[in-house]
Amino acid sequence: MKTLIRNGRVALDGQLQQLDVLVEGERIAAVGAPEPASADKVIDAAGCYVLPGFIDFHTHVDDEIGPFYLADTYESATRVGLENGITTLCTFVTQGEGESLLQAMARARAKAEGKSHSDVLWHLTPTTFSAADLDTLRRLLAGGYHTLKLYTTYKAAGIYASYGRIEELFQKLGPLGGQFLIHCEDDALIEAVDATSLDLSKPFTHTLMRPEAAEILAIQKVVELALAHHTSMHVVHVSTLEGARHLVANRGRGDLSFETCPQYLFLDDSWLAREDGHRWLCSPPLRGNRAPFLDLIRQGAADIIATDHCPFCARDKDGWNHQDLRTVPNGMPGLGSLPHVTWKIWEDDPDRAALGLSTHVSLNPARRAGVGDRKGALKPGMDADLVVLDPKGPERPLRSTAAPAFEAFPGFITSLAIRHVLLRGDHRVEQGRLTQPDAPGGIFLQPPPSSLT
Ligand SMILES: [Zn+2]
Repeated sequence: MKTLIRNGRVALDGQLQQLDVLVEGERIAAVGAPEPASADKVIDAAGCYVLPGFIDFHTHVDDEIGPFYLADTYESATRVGLENGITTLCTFVTQGEGESLLQAMARARAKAEGKSHSDVLWHLTPTTFSAADLDTLRRLLAGGYHTLKLYTTYKAAGIYASYGRIEELFQKLGPLGGQFLIHCEDDALIEAVDATSLDLSKPFTHTLMRPEAAEILAIQKVVELALAHHTSMHVVHVSTLEGARHLVANRGRGDLSFETCPQYLFLDDSWLAREDGHRWLCSPPLRGNRAPFLDLIRQGAADIIATDHCPFCARDKDGWNHQDLRTVPNGMPGLGSLPHVTWKIWEDDPDRAALGLSTHVSLNPARRAGVGDRKGALKPGMDADLVVLDPKGPERPLRSTAAPAFEAFPGFITSLAIRHVLLRGDHRVEQGRLTQPDAPGGIFLQPPPSSLT
């Protein structure tokens, strides 16, 4: 099967060019001016951008978080994702209490098997570090897994790693190709906040309990460790201007990158002051004074824009007693909004916005996830994951999730229309709708752990 995408403006090597793209089987066969007669199917992309398939680098789906279960299954998450051009879902597998990381991985694969409309890649969150655990991690790093997530906070949830632990893992696993994803909020600074002196019935208090200083300090500490040990490190969901500036200032000194999320750009802490402000509780919290932060990101400072999609059922989010905000599950959806809200960063310059998507939501996340050899760019030989995006579609509200969760961006409007999406050459979305809703076509980009020696 050969498909030709004609007349679009193609993002290639950081530029937009009027080119045709020929897809053969699962791969891109040619970019330029291929012979139209050779194609079985022609897609007219006139007036549209032709971009590499989007990658949400940071999502949580179909998993337990504390006493709550996330609202999205792999099926519902990847359905909304693919309808919005997200051809690869990166999500986390977290080793739970009393299980091994391999068991957790088997559990996640079983949930996703046959259910995923997009391709799936897992970041690993190990929580125990015996000699046997480290040996497992070494085998995983040698066998197609690259990214390991660590948290500088959340002791009660059993996922906290001390700076000493982080340093030990940098030393032992960094040289083996481990790329570390770090959630940065200094636990000691958070613990030092005296909760009894605060009004825990007000969601806004969350901003006092997880202050900006905690994120900034943790970023400074892990940057120092990563540079000292020449470790590849990516900081997830950066929400503070000072934290982002520190990463930018040190970027040239090592393999450092960071992401931010649309909620830290377009939602501020006034949302937490609302009567229903608990619906926007997430960690790190929404912050004040977003203009300078947005300015920095507009300059291209963040390597990746990702959602930290973490949808809880509306009844779980609303189920607290309005006395202790610590009982509200932390997180909000974002997956389906990713391209639309990312576009807003540069909306006064559509070409810049299209290139922004191709760089920060495709190329950079593909490389950071370790799949830059097959995803993230429209080049011959790469997977034919491709989005035909019309910037002048009908206006409609954002829809971050199909799950029964509160919308994170109510009142936000997009005019981007996802005309076509190809997933490894397969025409999976037409005019924003799945062509094969009952036959999910996603694959897992990493081998089953059972195949590793
Ligand atoms: Zn997260």
